Amino acid sequence: MPLTIAIDGPVGAGKSTVSDAAAEALGILHLDTGAMYRAAGLAASRQGISPDDEEGVARAVRAADIAVRYENGRQVTMLNGEDVSTAIRTQEAGQMASAVSRFAPVRRQMVKLQQQLARTTAMLVDGRDIGTVVLPDAPVKIFLTASPEARALRRQRELIEKGQKADFETILAEVNARDDQDTHREVDPLRQAEDAVVLDSSEMTFEETVAAILRIVFEKTGIRPVGEAKA
Ligand code: C5P
Repeated sequence: MPLTIAIDGPVGAGKSTVSDAAAEALGILHLDTGAMYRAAGLAASRQGISPDDEEGVARAVRAADIAVRYENGRQVTMLNGEDVSTAIRTQEAGQMASAVSRFAPVRRQMVKLQQQLARTTAMLVDGRDIGTVVLPDAPVKIFLTASPEARALRRQRELIEKGQKADFETILAEVNARDDQDTHREVDPLRQAEDAVVLDSSEMTFEETVAAILRIVFEKTGIRPVGEAKA
């Protein structure tokens, strides 16, 4: 089994960007599983299916061809042969992903695909249920979190940088709503694996968070970032 690193945590903890940087430093691929649920959500919404229609959503996702490929080490998320990597990045797609990821048939399909991918090559996999369900035997499990306020503030800065409207209270309410949905759903809720190392990045910069992850990886596996001299 190739090396697997599992990173779980709530929305806005910076998992995606931090995971990208840590995987690159280690010279391994990064699988963003949230992108797969976003593609599943897009498959359902493009067919006009209500996020509350479990059977309809399950049918649409089963019929959809969701795949991940890598171009120059970067994940490209595909839906029915189309690159949807940009289309899945809206706030709306995130809400839809959160809604359809409640359903067991959707989760079973995504988990299977994720496990197949992780068997092929060394990967850092981020999501909500990686350490608990997808890769329970991963030698490194990290639960990356931050306070809801810190996460909302980061999201607000991101939106402002993109020139978009960003009301802090609205964003905070959305962060809390997504947390609530992710931690209280019946199937594979977001929870910390018992053997995960908790990393609270509320007071940490991006660089400090990446460095902390690389330190944990080294402590657990003895693996250092590519090009880093042995002591
Ligand atoms: O991480 P991201 O915000 O892109 O994920 C979108 C949604 O997909 C999350 O709110 C969560 O409900 C769902 N998800 C999940 N399990 C994963 C990854 C994401 O349920 N492993």
